[in-house]
Amino acid sequence: MTFTPQHLTALRLISDTFAPGDGAGIPAASAVGAPEFALELAGTNPREAEVKQLKTLLRLWDTRFLGLLLTGRPRKFSSLDQTGRERVLLSLSDSRIAAKRALFAALKGAALAPYYITAGKPLWDSMGYAGPPGPLEVAPEPKLAPLRILADETVTCDVVVVGSGAGGGTAAGVLSEAGLDVIILEAGEYHDDRDFDGSERTGFSQLYAGSPAVTSEGQVQLVAGRGLGGGTIVNYTTSFPTPDHVRAEWAALGTPQFTTSEYDDALSAVNARLGVNKDHDGAGVRDQVLERGAKALGWNVDAMPRNVIGCDAGIECGRCGMGCRIGAKQSTLKTWITDASERGARIYIGANARRVTVEGGKATGVVATSPDGRTLTVKAKAVVVAAGAIQTPALLKRSGLTNPNVGKHLRLHPATALWGRVPDLVNPWEGALQARYINEWTDLDGDGYGVLFETAPLTPAFGSGFVNWRSGAQHLARMQELKHMLGVAIIVRDKGPGGSVKIGKDGEPIASYTLSPGDTELLMKGFDGAARIAEAAGATKIYTTHHRTIGYEPGRRGNLESFMADVRNEGAAPARLALAALHIMGSARMGGSPEISALNPDGETWDVKGLVVADGSCFPTASGVNPMISIESIAYMNAKRLAAKVT
Ligand SMILES: Cc1cc2nc3c(=O)[nH]c(=O)nc-3n(C[C@H](O)[C@H](O)[C@H](O)COP(=O)(O)OP(=O)(O)OC[C@H]3O[C@@H](n4cnc5c(N)ncnc54)[C@H](O)[C@@H]3O)c2cc1C
Repeated sequence: MTFTPQHLTALRLISDTFAPGDGAGIPAASAVGAPEFALELAGTNPREAEVKQLKTLLRLWDTRFLGLLLTGRPRKFSSLDQTGRERVLLSLSDSRIAAKRALFAALKGAALAPYYITAGKPLWDSMGYAGPPGPLEVAPEPKLAPLRILADETVTCDVVVVGSGAGGGTAAGVLSEAGLDVIILEAGEYHDDRDFDGSERTGFSQLYAGSPAVTSEGQVQLVAGRGLGGGTIVNYTTSFPTPDHVRAEWAALGTPQFTTSEYDDALSAVNARLGVNKDHDGAGVRDQVLERGAKALGWNVDAMPRNVIGCDAGIECGRCGMGCRIGAKQSTLKTWITDASERGARIYIGANARRVTVEGGKATGVVATSPDGRTLTVKAKAVVVAAGAIQTPALLKRSGLTNPNVGKHLRLHPATALWGRVPDLVNPWEGALQARYINEWTDLDGDGYGVLFETAPLTPAFGSGFVNWRSGAQHLARMQELKHMLGVAIIVRDKGPGGSVKIGKDGEPIASYTLSPGDTELLMKGFDGAARIAEAAGATKIYTTHHRTIGYEPGRRGNLESFMADVRNEGAAPARLALAALHIMGSARMGGSPEISALNPDGETWDVKGLVVADGSCFPTASGVNPMISIESIAYMNAKRLAAKVT
């Protein structure tokens, strides 16, 4: 869907208000092509209705009518000066109406992320960010030779696996090891060491899912990988086993194997194949400061187990959210998918699974399409769906499954940051992706629900989403301060009841999710704990990711108590603060009966035989820790059980 010059003009006005530059060398957004890049990204949204909505907004943006609607005053946006335009945006940001706040958050993201990607040197220099390293010339040739759908065709195999991320990649490896003829269908592309240049431009346009970008209420941004290897290409390599209390909770929901040696064996096999180790846990400044805070409080802080081999845990690693240039990250691409390929598995990229075919209550294959509209029909004895916890329930629903638990119980681990200004040169885009964690407050309710504290590699565009915006100048100043900021990641283990995934008329997923009062309370406590950590680490200024500025300066202005009163007062209603989910789970969960779950204890849907799910959707509840190892272990287990049945 193409955008018109009128759309572009409107987005330029908006983007330049968010990012006007400094008038002294740092350019405005429109001077660096940020609005064009934003529209390029928006044009890839498969939901035509959303693209149409954006077009309507941009068409009307600079009219008196919209001025009246948004601000109560019939003035054209272009007739206002910078301060007047900022006031309009702030009126959205601070509105009592959630939809207006959500609009502000969407506009902020559309303006600022592309700006920090496209602005380049003058801006990056002012932040102390050296820019992306570019492709590594000595990177090895890609090992795999995946197929594409070049014509309408029909192929057959034993098992077809949809999706190739943490779950799908593992399942394909296990099924092929069992001697089965496997086909993998991956909607994204194949990118390997050689293609990674450490840039957010390449990363966000090629390696991340993009859509749906946010839950329908505008409360939580959804961040997931896309392409061969899925989320394991971009993820932060934190490799926690499933905690025992979570395993017990899952077993109690009717999947007893989670507390038996079967799941122990799955965890061991996954850890071994990914080479999980603690030999690459050298902390960058970010994690050193986090550790300093925890130790000063007397809190438990530990080194991360990581699935890397030969990682520099330094400058290289900090850009690894855009793919690992040196091939250290043991993604499913490097491990299970390579294994499967060596055993003869056929891998299709650019293959978007639209529906599972079913005959007589049994799965018989998958129909997938290419971006140019060609159709691949795969006939198989069994189907494994592992398209991630947003796309998997959508595919199951498109395929006619009616169990109400398909798409229910969505869990997200809502996460945000607390910023602490420290004297150290943090450069949050450097250092091992994640090298330390604090689990002091992971059980705040006695049931194993609480918050986990970590850090995260924050490259400029990604980081800009967590820095609040009150004016163009204020935001720029905060971004220039980022090099001295400790970002304490607050990760909530959400108890639910959770959200849902439905499909629109176009068959595309719509994720709905609002934090329950209990989970909101955990988030509030998370701010409290994170502020304690930052203060103990020596932070002189502390603030949250709320759109309004909420913070204090220890020993100078306010204190933890007044800060927490402000945080609680502002709350966590949709689009009041930046919340993101990198851990998406539970939307087709395993369990003991069709009344409470979408899948039986084998991971097979209650609705259709021979249709097995093997990804984050399977989690009976949230894992409470970064989920990759749990996902791969479940996929391993479900694939083993399936392999024993397929002959
Ligand atoms: C930036 C980031 C950092 C993270 N860091 C960590 C970490 O350090 N440790 C950790 O444990 N977890 C981490 N996670 C989370 C972890 O990576 C994910 O939970 C995990 O990858 C999800 O696995 P999955 O199999 O459910 O889905 P995914 O890995 O998302 O794979 C799904 C795949 O299916 C494909 N697909 C979707 N729809 C279709 C379709 N219709 N047809 C064909 N293919 C389709 C997608 O393109 C994708 O490749 C991180 C996630 C992100 C985004």
